[in-house]
Amino acid sequence: MSDFKIDFTSTPVAELYGSNCFSNSTMRELLPKNIYKEILAVQNGEKELNAYAAEVVAAAMRDWAISKGATHYTHWFHPLTGLTAEKHDSFISPTGDGKVIMEFSGKELIKGEPDASSFPSGGLRATFEARGYTAWDVTSPAFLKQDATGTTLCIPTAFISYYGQALDKKVPLLRAMESLNREALRVLHAIGFSTAKRVYTTVGPEQEYFLIDKEYYLSRPDLLLTGRTVFGSMPAKGQEMEDHYFGAIKERVASFMRELNYELWKMGIPAKTQHNEVAPNQFEIAPIYSNTTAAVDSNQIVMETLRNVARRRGMEALLHEKPFAGVNGSGKHNNWSISTDDGVNLFEPGENPESNARFLLFAAAVVEAVDRYALLLRSSVATSGNEHRLGANEAPPAIVSIFFGGPLTEILDNIADGKPGKHTEGGSIKLGVTSLPSLPKDVSDRNRTSPFAFTGNKFEFRMVGSSQSIATPNTYLNTAVAQVLREFADKLEGASDKNAAIQSIIKESYSKHRRVVFNGNGYSDEWVKEAERRGLPNIKNAPDALSVLVAPEIISLFESHKVFTKEEAESRYHIYLEKYSKQINIEAGVAIDMARRGIFPAVSSFAAELAREASALAAAGAPSAAQEKSAKKIAELSAGLYEETALLENALSAAQQITDPFAKAKSYYEKVKPAMDAVRNKADVLEKLTAKNRWPYPGYGDMLFKL
Ligand code: ADP
Ligand code: MG
Repeated sequence: MSDFKIDFTSTPVAELYGSNCFSNSTMRELLPKNIYKEILAVQNGEKELNAYAAEVVAAAMRDWAISKGATHYTHWFHPLTGLTAEKHDSFISPTGDGKVIMEFSGKELIKGEPDASSFPSGGLRATFEARGYTAWDVTSPAFLKQDATGTTLCIPTAFISYYGQALDKKVPLLRAMESLNREALRVLHAIGFSTAKRVYTTVGPEQEYFLIDKEYYLSRPDLLLTGRTVFGSMPAKGQEMEDHYFGAIKERVASFMRELNYELWKMGIPAKTQHNEVAPNQFEIAPIYSNTTAAVDSNQIVMETLRNVARRRGMEALLHEKPFAGVNGSGKHNNWSISTDDGVNLFEPGENPESNARFLLFAAAVVEAVDRYALLLRSSVATSGNEHRLGANEAPPAIVSIFFGGPLTEILDNIADGKPGKHTEGGSIKLGVTSLPSLPKDVSDRNRTSPFAFTGNKFEFRMVGSSQSIATPNTYLNTAVAQVLREFADKLEGASDKNAAIQSIIKESYSKHRRVVFNGNGYSDEWVKEAERRGLPNIKNAPDALSVLVAPEIISLFESHKVFTKEEAESRYHIYLEKYSKQINIEAGVAIDMARRGIFPAVSSFAAELAREASALAAAGAPSAAQEKSAKKIAELSAGLYEETALLENALSAAQQITDPFAKAKSYYEKVKPAMDAVRNKADVLEKLTAKNRWPYPGYGDMLFKL
């Protein structure tokens, strides 16, 4: 238990909030006016940071950090492993007389040089040229991290190779946001919204996770090494009572959440809502949305802080997409919107004809992007963990579709079909010679089963896995939408009658792409059939989903938006495949180990004991049939377990020998995973037949219900 006392009376939240964040308001306070202005211009993409400004900022950042107890700084970045990486350097600089001063220069702020050779590059970086550079991402604030190592200044950075290739998840995201900015501005300016100078995407991720007692976690090698249980039978009570969702929060969890909020608020992360989720011991935390780069960084911090705070309190936070079979998995809802620097949310249905037209145009662009680049969006969530979740009945299926709700769909349908429609009756709004209907005031009906749902003024991409960085899904989403906006802008800029052009673009685009709109129950079997009829892809496994990354049209999409070069896209494809194979390789290894060295010895000695008891009872003339039958059944099943384990081992070593990354990943999917399931089937039945105190691992009943 943590002895940590949180007192929001002596330190009011408003004072605490952001105290460890080098935010714009901190910079406004601490920097000379002209330097602060310079930083704002850099944040807005108007110029690059100059050396002089960097010096001034570095000095201010250093003094601020040291005044709060920092001894080290780190260039904090997102390598392709999906975690965050940091190498800590202290501020100390020897003065030559046995003393030190605390130093941190502009050069150190702007650029770091971690040895890149131990981060995956997918062959982009020859080993003799292992240098990589990290560069400060001015759009995401620096912050102080406080833990057992002390206080560290974390500077969010982008990570590139010596030749400028992206080695992380941040660089492509920044590039995609830049492209979206450019194309969205072209569209806005073409339709008469000339005041916007910058367009940026906003994201608010909702993070799901499980908490379990540390004692259980440490006794389960599968959880410890892979984040999920590879064995475990369902207890008598699962989630069927549905009594956990939004239920009262247990005391132990509540005090965990209190400390979590405290830590996040200090770092300037606007943690807002928290509640119980559907599954037992499953929870959610959602910060208020922000600029996408800041949201991506803060989500990484949220995941790390969840783990740290849980550990301090004798628990473990599980971020895996499917820690427990048969129980809802965890996702991460990526709420996404586009805003302008003059304060307009482009997905806010408008109040007047012009903003209605704008809304419908951008909404149509999203529909088209989601339809044309469905495979790309699908690939952005293709991980071994998420494979357990997509298509199971608690998560959106592996089919990408979009929800708009009845009224909006009807409006778009009517435009596509050239019909006036009931929403235009009486309220038809004239835009020159053409007309677009007025939008209904309340478009906020909800659908919880859609993978990509419009929720009033934003879209919610729900396929993202709970442990993933949201950088990649947002990179692909922004690139896809940027491409469609570019094509819209090409037409609009050349049009003499803008209103007619808007109308015909929406009509043409929506007629062609409305097949991706689906407002019904996304979890139903009928939808799977219907989607197939509509020609929508349903890709269930991660390797196939990833292969779109090297499809020629996707590579040219990335190239034309300068998001990835061909080499960068290919290298990522290989890294993701490799990561998938490695993950299942570890899971299979753990399963074999647990089956052979934990479960098998336990059940065979239990069976032997039952057999001995049976003969002792028989010798004493007492009934012994139950012991006999039970011993026999357990012995049979454990023979099966033994055999299936051997088969798994064969499948595993066959997969390990394959060198082609795609064929290897497919072999893990097609051969190793089913072999693991076969072992599990035997083990899970055995668990139900074995005395609880003989089973070598904590069961689901304990892990899921005791806290
Ligand atoms: P729900 O979807 O559960 O009804 P809300 O509509 O309040 O809840 O929002 C859910 C999430 O969407 C929150 O994390 C919030 O920060 C985020 N969100 C709200 N508006 C936007 C926006 N314009 N851009 C991105 N995310 C947003
Ligand atoms: Mg949600």
